[in-house]
Amino acid sequence: MKYYLFVLYFLSIQFCFGQSELSNPESDCKFILPWVCNECSFTWTGECLDNLPSGEGLLSVFHENQEEPIMTYEGEMEKGRFNGQGVYHDGMNNWEGTFENGNFIDTRIAMIDTTTFNEMEGWEQESIVTKQIDNIYFTFPAEGYAYNHRDAYVQKCLNAIDANSKLIKVPVFKQFTKIKVVDSKKDMLLYAGMPAGGGIANIWTRSVFFMISDEGVEETTELIKAPIKHEIMHMVAMTAWGMPPQNNTWLNEGLATYAANNCSGYTVAEIYRYFLEKNMLIPIEALTSNFYQEEEMVSYHQCAFIVEYMISNFGIEKFEELWKSGFSSFESIYGFAYSQMEIDLNKSIMETYPIPIDIDWETLKDGCK
Ligand SMILES: [Zn+2]
Repeated sequence: MKYYLFVLYFLSIQFCFGQSELSNPESDCKFILPWVCNECSFTWTGECLDNLPSGEGLLSVFHENQEEPIMTYEGEMEKGRFNGQGVYHDGMNNWEGTFENGNFIDTRIAMIDTTTFNEMEGWEQESIVTKQIDNIYFTFPAEGYAYNHRDAYVQKCLNAIDANSKLIKVPVFKQFTKIKVVDSKKDMLLYAGMPAGGGIANIWTRSVFFMISDEGVEETTELIKAPIKHEIMHMVAMTAWGMPPQNNTWLNEGLATYAANNCSGYTVAEIYRYFLEKNMLIPIEALTSNFYQEEEMVSYHQCAFIVEYMISNFGIEKFEELWKSGFSSFESIYGFAYSQMEIDLNKSIMETYPIPIDIDWETLKDGCK
């Protein structure tokens, strides 16, 4: 994982969209797979209560007649859902920790020693500096790279609030909002609740967190990048329009990524053109049902260009309506099917860039620089 530009409301293996009821060849036990797979079956070594896996055991999901499972979960289950301590593996995720009602709670926390947040045995004074500008309350570490460049970062945040509000044509928000900069993943875990490297926006607590540090960075005259426009766009859009339904997560991340519109010097349109050429685009069904399960360097930039296309061609009012109503209202809002727009969009990008964009994907896929 390289992006870590989350909004804190997903943390779930989605059971709402696109799922399959799997049967077990040896019993009448059933398991609801959180994505669509009509050729899948499963085995479960534990007990079944009311035809659903319960208690402790190993659950394995197989595709057709393959011998290796495509997904395993070893741990506690209740009423057919992951519940309790468990270890989950699939093609993209390796989760170990606590599950609650099918949702994974301890994302990557297991990788960090949570018993040593405090280095002294007694009381320790924490050194931070704060500054409030109107409704925005900034917090920075009291020393180090972020501290030395704090005024520049504060200005970037204020500029982003302004630019993003203009982009989606909403008034600049006046609600009290905290922007906290920390200098380690450990502090991201401590304050933001996830050990992510880039940034996190939490609309419920009206907080935005950034990790900014020069550790491992070669000397540079430029300001070290942080996903400021991206995270601030989450805040701006969700303040104005509210939390989008889950099948619009792709719209939320797409808008935030489009707001930044820069990955190692490439625009989202250029990156989309590259994906189109290389047949790397993800089907919209997958983006709307399991956004965070997809390869993020593709999904974020693909959605960003779709959002750019929708806003530039059909305006912000329709976009706002779609944001609020959910993806299933696409056709009634836009007057044509999503599949039609996809055809037009691909045609339009081919006209803009008749010659494919040459991108060094091997380098870019490790993250934007
Ligand atoms: Zn994001």
